Amino acid sequence: MTVCPFCDIADKSASAVIVWEDSDIVAFLDTRPIRKGHCLIIPKRHIESFEEVPSDLAARMMALGQRLARRMKAIYKVDRVAFLFAGSDVPHTHAHVFPMYEKMDITSARYILNPENLQFGSSHLKVDEKGLVGIESELRLD
Ligand SMILES: [Zn+2]
Repeated sequence: MTVCPFCDIADKSASAVIVWEDSDIVAFLDTRPIRKGHCLIIPKRHIESFEEVPSDLAARMMALGQRLARRMKAIYKVDRVAFLFAGSDVPHTHAHVFPMYEKMDITSARYILNPENLQFGSSHLKVDEKGLVGIESELRLD
């Protein structure tokens, strides 16, 4: 185990529900999904911020996000799939890919008129790997 949970997933010292993997990239289901099917795409090598990712690897991560987006649109019948880099929780570059049902699925508190009454967190979204197994079969790419 390392101090980075995503390096642990990349080197298989921690488990994850993986939907795609090659020599440089892993895509797995987020255990705190914004929406069903929420995936994270990471480079296997520890790279802290997305702007440090070599452009060819970043392009491959984007292409994988596009494949997942097409699959998500077909399965979940959504018009939009979000693809974004944030990196606020784990300092290992990761792209979030998830079906968008509402504009509020991704937003900023700046757009909320009364933000002092909001509570932010993700613990209420937590699911275990058993809860993700059916989704894996929907999104696994060949
Ligand atoms: Zn890492």
